[in-house]
Amino acid sequence: IGALAAELAASPLGLTPILAPAELGRLSADFHDYSPVLEPLLKGRRAQLAVKVERVEQVMAVAGACARHRVPLTLRGAGTGNYGQCVPLAGGLVLDMGGLNRLRSLDPDSGVIEAESGCILAQLDGQLVAHGRALRLAPSTYRSATLGGFIAGGSGGLGSLRWGFLRDPGHLLGLEAVTLEAEPRLLRLDAAASAPLNHAYGTNGIITALRMATTEAVAWEPLVVGFARWEEALETARELPTTALLLNALCLLEAPVAAAMPWPAGCPAAASGEHRLLLHAAPDSLEPLPGWLAARGGRILWQGRRPEPGRGRGLPLAELTWNHTTLHWRAQAPEWTYLQLLLPRPEAPLLEAVRGRWGTDVLWHLEGVRHLGAPRLTALPLVRWQGPEALADLVAQCRALGAVPFDPHVITVEDGGLGVVDADQVAAKAAFDPAGLMNPGKLRGWRG
Ligand code: FAD
Repeated sequence: IGALAAELAASPLGLTPILAPAELGRLSADFHDYSPVLEPLLKGRRAQLAVKVERVEQVMAVAGACARHRVPLTLRGAGTGNYGQCVPLAGGLVLDMGGLNRLRSLDPDSGVIEAESGCILAQLDGQLVAHGRALRLAPSTYRSATLGGFIAGGSGGLGSLRWGFLRDPGHLLGLEAVTLEAEPRLLRLDAAASAPLNHAYGTNGIITALRMATTEAVAWEPLVVGFARWEEALETARELPTTALLLNALCLLEAPVAAAMPWPAGCPAAASGEHRLLLHAAPDSLEPLPGWLAARGGRILWQGRRPEPGRGRGLPLAELTWNHTTLHWRAQAPEWTYLQLLLPRPEAPLLEAVRGRWGTDVLWHLEGVRHLGAPRLTALPLVRWQGPEALADLVAQCRALGAVPFDPHVITVEDGGLGVVDADQVAAKAAFDPAGLMNPGKLRGWRG
């Protein structure tokens, strides 16, 4: 490590090795503490050295030096992942990509962008809106997360109701990536060749820029809808995405969860027993929505100002959805954790069976998504932590009732997905990281 730090410090490219323990601790951490399984597993794992980069040639210099010195390299965007994706298991160097943050181009005809991996999503979206375009998908952490970290470590979020998930073909059109070799290569990969690096936790190539499809910018109106009856709220959440009312986000919170949320300024706190549906609706949906909702037992309680990507003040409604729901819940109940499930259709039998067995130890938070082209509901239930066996029992029950669990309590790419090794991801690692130095321990299929 000492020799690597000295080599980097001597580089004419202006690299500054970071060795201060407090800074190394910060740059080695993410948000895996939502999982009581991961927390003890990752405790104390930290880099021995960190470097921040702003230019591709700096990335290449660090990659080459790590390969020659045989030092593990872990990439970091903003460090907002939930599964310890950017926590270095084997020490080594953390490469902070946040300074590589230029929007390189926006094609006015197709809307296709090429942007560097460290672009903060909200800031990037702000740049696109000026041209009438917007990102299709963003995590609820869009105000801090990077584009490269979202592709390498995320899956979907805001926009998933219309656009599905990041690994669906058509979102990622190409990558610029650097290999981890003594003489690093700067690759330009097309959509097909980029796919194995998509959601690979930075184990098989350093993404320096991404070509992405965008969508037309819509000034989504944030709405909060109240329901006295859970059955009506659930039915509304199922039915809304099948109408021609244009929505970008749909989040349903069971009453106890709604009661614990910090609502945006001007939005009333949830009354006892009130279930809440959170929507991002297109302006032309605002006219028919109140009547349509009222016929189903729902009442619009609050309509916010249009969110201004990257420029909003205060708490946006988006930051009550996806894993921000978990964040706010855990702020007052840190002993709770969560799960991620794609729910079967119809959803009610599973929700009721779980409620029957676990009572108020499992609380429902649902998100509307598009899965394989069809509207579906996913769940990020809040779960009172009662130990690993109880969690495994709950997952087994949900699986038996037809849900597809995506386990947030594991550290490998495969275990967080469907549990299956992706041969293309492993082949990309063999080609671009032949010594197996990138984020070691996170790709189960790699036996290097
Ligand atoms: P990081 O955490 O820094 O990195 C993520 C992974 O990508 C790591 O494995 C890292 O090594 C790798 N990586 C980073 N940069 C590169 C690069 N240039 N090349 C190759 N690999 C790289 N996720 C969702 O998908 N949807 C959500 O709605 C969502 N909501 C969240 C809410 C909360 C409150 C929290 C704490 C997390 C949430 N997440 C969500 C998880 C996370 O915020 C997102 O996935 C986010 O996009 C990660 O971006 P990041 O820049 O923080 O990446």
